[in-house]
Amino acid sequence: MTKRGDAQSRDSRKIKRIKPLLAVAALGTATAALAQMSVPAGLTLGSMSRVSPVLKAVRTHENFEPALAFPEQARAAAAKLAALRRHTGRAPNILILVVDDLGYGDVGAYGGGEALGAPTPHIDRLAREGLKLTSTYSQPSCTPTRAALNTGRLPVRSGLLKPSLLNDTADISSELLASKLLSQGGYVTGLSGKWHLGEKEGSRPWQVGFDEFEGFLGVVNAYQEEHPSQPDAAGDPELLEELRSMPGSRDLWRATKAGGGRSLGKINWENSRDLDQKFADFSEDFIRRAAKQGKPFYLSHNFSKVHYFNHPSQRFVGRSATKDVYRDSVIEVDDIVGRLTRLLEELKIADNTLVFFTSDNGPEEDSYPETGVTPFRGAKGTTLEGGVRVPGIFWWPGMIKGGRVSDGLFDMTDMFNTSLGLAGIDPSQVVPTDRYIDGIDQTSFLLADNGQSDREAVFFYNADMFVGARWRYYKMVVSEVQVGSGNVRDMGGLDNAQTIIPTNGFMYNLYTDPKERRSEMIAKAWAPSYALGPLLAVHGASLRKYPPKVFIRVR
Ligand code: CA
Repeated sequence: MTKRGDAQSRDSRKIKRIKPLLAVAALGTATAALAQMSVPAGLTLGSMSRVSPVLKAVRTHENFEPALAFPEQARAAAAKLAALRRHTGRAPNILILVVDDLGYGDVGAYGGGEALGAPTPHIDRLAREGLKLTSTYSQPSCTPTRAALNTGRLPVRSGLLKPSLLNDTADISSELLASKLLSQGGYVTGLSGKWHLGEKEGSRPWQVGFDEFEGFLGVVNAYQEEHPSQPDAAGDPELLEELRSMPGSRDLWRATKAGGGRSLGKINWENSRDLDQKFADFSEDFIRRAAKQGKPFYLSHNFSKVHYFNHPSQRFVGRSATKDVYRDSVIEVDDIVGRLTRLLEELKIADNTLVFFTSDNGPEEDSYPETGVTPFRGAKGTTLEGGVRVPGIFWWPGMIKGGRVSDGLFDMTDMFNTSLGLAGIDPSQVVPTDRYIDGIDQTSFLLADNGQSDREAVFFYNADMFVGARWRYYKMVVSEVQVGSGNVRDMGGLDNAQTIIPTNGFMYNLYTDPKERRSEMIAKAWAPSYALGPLLAVHGASLRKYPPKVFIRVR
């Protein structure tokens, strides 16, 4: 890269001719780096500016993702945290609220809510009084996102690539979860609701770091064969009985790390109606008990809604303007967000609790009309923005300045580092050096009044296929997965036909072209040449140095 750059500056007359070549060369180098791990040695060390002058992130540890350095905002955030610690005498609580398959556009604060007949006043309030992010990135589906959030590692590194099904072999037991490190660091840790990171013995929430768990291990529609829309099983008691006797946990579990797990009964279509109310009860009880004990808590609250088949609790039936189960369920989710945040205020611990609200992927459009809304192209199951750009709201009265909105990049993996950072745990001291952490501590972004994101780039994968990266508002993709066909092109989900479009590289400007329709790869050749290409090369080098658990497909 450097040699080509020098050649370019020596002869500006060649710029027009050289630029497209640079773009293709950068892309070729980057994809080769990923496919063959053939990047020159030494690229993994030091700051990104050594690789390209436009890249600014600094790597402090070889097995940690480089982060942007903003010394002033880091000092401001550290001072705020220290003052709080002096006042409360303990580390802050962390409450993570993950809705299943909620669309970016479903929430009022993101343009939905009232406009879609399903107001979300409680979630909107968090956005209004906190920090609303417009570029929070999940993975294309449930399991990989939850793996990223819990481990700080991209799914190709943890091996959890696809949604696990009933009796699946998904296994997170060899990974190190934030909950385990926080539990060891004096936190009480809890998981409420959906797990979806493995049913196997050794891979269950109470076996990998959560002190307490109430919820289910898979995905709600796996337990709903007698849903009215499925007459094959619903109308055939014998088949239903056979299905129910197959291996796979259909249980509603209650578990503690010390005492193990026990089933509170089997989940079915009928009783799935009240699951989210039960999870809210459990979370309320967990928070009350932690507050009483005077211990900091880390609670991951994972809704079963608004994944299909939605079965709104009785009190919410018909509450939306359209009287449909999806929007009624959005209202139920919003109500529970209100319950949990109100409780923090009642207990007078809101000022010592970071709340993060998000969704685990874009809307599942296969189940239309029981589906969410996104203003972007694509849906769940793709790395088009519609599949991976999700709501992301941070609320922490007194600590996060209200009314902030930022387009700074936030990746789900960042919750791992940020949670540990808030707890005063240095991940480089506790994570074994044999594994790479893709997350970045975003504490200073969240807490400094005008904080900027500490993340320079987001990398996209669709299961085991490398897709591309976003840097600033440029997104480069080396292969694109599209869903749907005919008049529902770009709509879909995991059940729909997927088409892989191999390309010489597309690059979208997400500000002028948020729907990713017009590539500017050649027209803006400097971005892939000096930023995205080198970023991919360094990312490839991290994979060479720390081999992922799966073979990565590139184009
Ligand atoms: Ca999901």
